[in-house]
Amino acid sequence: MQTQQVALITGANRGIGFETARQLGEHGITVVLAARRLAAAQEAAAQLKAVGIDAHGIQLDVTKPNERTAAAQFLADKLGRLDILINNAGMVPKETLFVPRTSETTPEEFQEIFDTNLFSVVALTREVLPLLRQSPAGRIVNLSSNLGSLTEHALPGNPLGPFQVLSYCASKVALNMFTVLLAHELADTSIKVNSAHPGWVKTEIGGGDIAQLTVPEGSRTSVELALLGADGPSGHFMHLGKELPW
Ligand code: NDP
Repeated sequence: MQTQQVALITGANRGIGFETARQLGEHGITVVLAARRLAAAQEAAAQLKAVGIDAHGIQLDVTKPNERTAAAQFLADKLGRLDILINNAGMVPKETLFVPRTSETTPEEFQEIFDTNLFSVVALTREVLPLLRQSPAGRIVNLSSNLGSLTEHALPGNPLGPFQVLSYCASKVALNMFTVLLAHELADTSIKVNSAHPGWVKTEIGGGDIAQLTVPEGSRTSVELALLGADGPSGHFMHLGKELPW
């Protein structure tokens, strides 16, 4: 087993995932960049290796059971440990970010969005939990969103109006429930589980340049939660060190 901490980041070929891997790598953590295309994962890892970070690229479409198992196997066989899991991969339904149409949401859309944003997160976490349990300080960070805050949606004046895409918002609400219940389940371990709201970030999911935060700024919450000390929170919903309402 290697002495350096190991982090697995899903959807790490671009956006917040790649930048989170870079920032964790700068903290001396070995980073495993997972992406659904092997070439993209390897290319991303090569960029980090070029600046002295210990990085590995692996293929992982989070919706594919055999690839989830292979990822856990890679960690166990090649690195012998896992300390940090960043459940970052996520998706929004195409062309709907600013076109809410709640009553028209189809079961097929729910299935696709929940497959990536919830079911795969639960399944991958389950695959790697035995390794995380062996870590002296396991950390699980689930990339949620303030769009998964029922409290914010229910505020008077419809402040999240343009972003009310039912399938996406509901997937993040459900992801938050996973965070809370898993934190309870693991309360007697050293593993901490938290939901991160990255902010509105200039990535493809964020809608590009119209968003507020740069990608490095938008990756700070994930990194903070990955590096939490023993006295840090578990089962919380965080943005830049502040608690968000569920
Ligand atoms: P990007 O669009 O830049 O990146 C999304 C990443 O997820 C890509 O690497 C993509 O891979 C990957 N991905 C999607 N589906 C799968 C899959 N089945 N298997 C593996 N990887 C997959 O978006 P962000 O970086 O902004 O998003 C990261 C997370 O942050 C998401 O969970 C998102 O919901 C959340 N978030 C983002 C906000 C923002 O404003 N940007 C706000 C709130 C939350 P590929 O390149 O192959 O498509």
